[in-house]
Amino acid sequence: MPAITPERWTDLPRIAESADALERPVVRLTTAPSLLEGAGFPVRRPFPSRDIGFREADPFLLLDHMGAVEYGPGEAKGAPWHPHRGFETVTYMIDGVMRHRDSQGGGGMITDGDTQWMTAGAGILHDEMPPEDLVAKGGLFHGIQLWVNLPRALKWTPPRYQSLEASHVTVVASARGDALVRIIAGEVGGFRGPGVTWTPITVIHASLEPGARLVLPWPQEFNAMAYVLTGSGDVGPNHVLIREGQGVLFGSGQSLRVTASQAPAGPTGRMEVLILGGQPIREPIASYGPFVMNTHAEIVQAFEDYQSGKMGQIPATDFRPS
Ligand code: MN
Repeated sequence: MPAITPERWTDLPRIAESADALERPVVRLTTAPSLLEGAGFPVRRPFPSRDIGFREADPFLLLDHMGAVEYGPGEAKGAPWHPHRGFETVTYMIDGVMRHRDSQGGGGMITDGDTQWMTAGAGILHDEMPPEDLVAKGGLFHGIQLWVNLPRALKWTPPRYQSLEASHVTVVASARGDALVRIIAGEVGGFRGPGVTWTPITVIHASLEPGARLVLPWPQEFNAMAYVLTGSGDVGPNHVLIREGQGVLFGSGQSLRVTASQAPAGPTGRMEVLILGGQPIREPIASYGPFVMNTHAEIVQAFEDYQSGKMGQIPATDFRPS
């Protein structure tokens, strides 16, 4: 069973629907292109894309949908030691296992609903690999990685690591009890998730039974996006059809709605959706590979600092000659 999923949903606290809240329309629909990341693992990337750029995604920078893929023996790949500066990487595993480590000593196994929230800040080295037994045996692998920007004043903050275990995720239900809402970070409908964020954002993984309707109150000052991990349905007052691998950007309003199609989908029979938004940072973005700063000069400096070891060292026990 992927992520954290209580047996019974009917006893969970529910998010009330407000009848007079102005529903946010869908203003962009994107079909995520597929590409290879790290040492060559396949991802779908709804943003940044032609349809949803840095400006629309702000305060988020990037979303990678990893899998779902059933790896054969020897096939699983990861992203060996690499640097980051100027933002946060958030890795949420729905199925399967990833082993994370960083040059500050943070890390661990993340599996079945766990989240690793790494604030790279001033700079860190990062190693994201499937554990050896998963590589040897193969197996199911499904997750996301989200990049969250930091405002200028926080790009130099010391690195921070949050291990958000699946059992700590806040779990509530839709008004009719037909959708499960896992709040990983931020607040929705008066409920708050465990993730500590530098700027106001909300990140949710929702599971919708066939035909379920999920309406969430959403702060007017936040942007809002939804991305379908599994299944299909429709979104917004304009009933835009959306399916696995597609994302939407919502316009302004006070609430957002996702309705699952009647057809059961995927291994759980449910539509799985990631819903996210936050207060835009609205600063210039200079981005190159694993560094996201405000100016080109800061990117050049990031490369120099990485090469001179100022972002940390690969642990000596782990040095892999190449
Ligand atoms: Mn990384």
